[in-house]
Amino acid sequence: MLLYLDDCFTQHDTGSHPENKARIQGVNRALRSAPWFGDCTTPTWDAATIAQLTRVHDATYVQQLQAWCEQNAGQIEADTVVSTGSWMAATRGAGAAIHAVHQVLHTPESRAFAAIRPPGHHALPDGPMGFCLLNNVAIAARYAIAQGLQRVMIVDWDVHHGNGTQDTFYADGQVAFFSIHRSPFYPGTGAEDETGTGRGLGFISNAPVHADITREKFFDTFDRKLEQLAARVQPELILVSAGFDAHPQDPVGGLCLEAPDFAVLTQKVLALADIYANGKIISLLEGGYHLQHLPECVTAHVQELVEA
Ligand SMILES: [Zn+2]
Repeated sequence: MLLYLDDCFTQHDTGSHPENKARIQGVNRALRSAPWFGDCTTPTWDAATIAQLTRVHDATYVQQLQAWCEQNAGQIEADTVVSTGSWMAATRGAGAAIHAVHQVLHTPESRAFAAIRPPGHHALPDGPMGFCLLNNVAIAARYAIAQGLQRVMIVDWDVHHGNGTQDTFYADGQVAFFSIHRSPFYPGTGAEDETGTGRGLGFISNAPVHADITREKFFDTFDRKLEQLAARVQPELILVSAGFDAHPQDPVGGLCLEAPDFAVLTQKVLALADIYANGKIISLLEGGYHLQHLPECVTAHVQELVEA
């Protein structure tokens, strides 16, 4: 089990924004003090290269983002801010995702979790959105395809729809995307009839759920729709956009999932990875903004990956 964690992610300084450095400080503390931490491998890795980023993002946007960070630009989008440390943090986050794919494809390691920030799944090919600068999970998926894989599946259980990831792969046909998310809610996309187009038709699966859904119904919906997509796609690798803002007390999101429920979701995805992907699963931190509950939820998730 690979665990990517580094204090460098505190250098994406967002002040009192809900997506702030205290999130990752709490997660890192919790992971480092977990009884199974010593069983994990903690790699060192490099920042993603421009060539790796531009498999997903427009070169002009990547250049603009770097310039914004150098200028300490502050607010660059309705909900998104950058500081001078943001370029390093964002490219190191994407780099962790890429390194994890490389290790899982080319070494005996089959599972990884990356405790990274800023999150990525709202980031669009041509711009930042919703706290996100670079779409880490999309960059990881494109890297996996570049390594020769034919089919990759992304599972996104963040409470918000992963619109940036969906946009990236809507007509792709090699990278499938499943999202379960609160609806109606930010960012407003992710209806059930958004299923892809062209070669990507049938490779996008959305499960919008109402704010008052019960845990039982949430798990039923998750199981049914995810199993359908996995059977259709037969993924060789599963990537997880692991957001933890579906916790009832999350200040930005909020839905029905307590910390132990993220262990249940993890078990379900692990079972599919065993069936289709030789157990290969890489999970990347997305949202989750409650400073006490986020570390508990992450720990419940990672523990399942470690003990699998
Ligand atoms: Zn979210």
